[in-house]
Amino acid sequence: MDIRFPYSPAEVSKVRLVQFGILSPDEIVILATVLLVSRQMSVVQIEHGETTERGKPKIGGLSDPRLGTIDRKMKCETCTANMAECPGHFGHLELAKPMFHIGFIKTVLTIMRCVCFNCSKVLADEEDHKFKQALRIRNPKNRLKKILDSCKNKTKCEGGDEIDINAQDSEKPAKKSRGGCGAQQPKLTIEGMKMIAEYKAQRKKSDDPEQLPEPVERKQTLTAERVLSVLKRISDDDCRLLGLDPNYARPDWMILQVLPIPPPPVRPSDDLTHQLAMIIRHNENLKRQERNGSPAHIISEFAQLLQFHIATYFDNELPGLPRATQRSGRPIKSICSRLKAKEGRIRGNLMGKRVDFSARTVITPDPTINIDQLGVPWSIALNLTYPETVTPYNIERLKELVEYGPHPPPGKTGAKYIIRDDGQRLDLRYLKKSSDHHLELGYKALCLHYD
Ligand SMILES: [Zn+2]
Ligand SMILES: [Zn+2]
Repeated sequence: MDIRFPYSPAEVSKVRLVQFGILSPDEIVILATVLLVSRQMSVVQIEHGETTERGKPKIGGLSDPRLGTIDRKMKCETCTANMAECPGHFGHLELAKPMFHIGFIKTVLTIMRCVCFNCSKVLADEEDHKFKQALRIRNPKNRLKKILDSCKNKTKCEGGDEIDINAQDSEKPAKKSRGGCGAQQPKLTIEGMKMIAEYKAQRKKSDDPEQLPEPVERKQTLTAERVLSVLKRISDDDCRLLGLDPNYARPDWMILQVLPIPPPPVRPSDDLTHQLAMIIRHNENLKRQERNGSPAHIISEFAQLLQFHIATYFDNELPGLPRATQRSGRPIKSICSRLKAKEGRIRGNLMGKRVDFSARTVITPDPTINIDQLGVPWSIALNLTYPETVTPYNIERLKELVEYGPHPPPGKTGAKYIIRDDGQRLDLRYLKKSSDHHLELGYKALCLHYD
């Protein structure tokens, strides 16, 4: 076993497949993941923005001891492991109102444009050439684009008769149809963090001057709650039409209802903790306004504030939005900026991962070396090693390399370390006695390998 990874009580299992999807609100709260000892993804509901109370981590706060420990002296209350061993455990925050997820808002707009604002049925005409073409597309993203193409000019949810409240008892048999509700469709756009629905002025059927214009408000801001109710009603079949697998990515899961709270080990009192505290505080404020029965415009204002902090928690470089800042005025580093850019997790830590037995250096040709050889600086040649397991076939050669050590004489090759079969690593810089250079079958020698 690798000594760099201490014992973990977590069950080890083989990965058979990887399935991407969106976490549903229920999953955020009760998903069982292989990483966790607990059967739930969330181990605690977070309710307080404060992290400590009288010098101790506050229960239900952002440093709740069940989320894991970042204190050398404390044990995790969920898995009882210490700071080095506990990976941390997610908590969750119940949002006072549904909120847009900034990463999904464009997809949500596309989906909203494809379905009826009233009955959530896909708007396209099944006989439409474009629609039939779209159904042949397997790639879900391309399919959604094509479906949108065949839906975007629909101004009405066809199939039913026009909704006429005064003529509900008409006995006309409904047209043979896909069962649309007949509702007029608004034009949907996004402005910053808001979704706007705009109804075209309805053309009057006659020039009857008596007929008054439609009493409905022409332009209205849609709350995430309203959008959620439309998305929730989309049938599983229509989800598949849109290129979404309802088992892994229901459109309504793209609206945040529950916010996962990452464990302190991944945000040791940094910007994310600060921003989460702001979110919790604004969430509490919004709840209080609702409890007090404040007027709608006040509640909407508080909801907008919460929406702003949630958006900037994910991405603080959104066009058209001000930056969320620390008290000092410095912009908050969002989840997004942790991932992208050269120093981010992807390019900085994963793609640019430094591994053992590799180095980057200048190389050179040289008339005195062979055609299949390269010249590298002496300092690199003395540093770069390769592990070779001791066998009956190479033991004599390896003994010689170990004898020469990390600074071999000119024209010779050496070695830097011996790794014994129990994993113990011997540094040849400090082992001068040749009795220490003893090699056995199964040991490894980290050899310099140049000629
Ligand atoms: Zn733990
Ligand atoms: Zn409809």
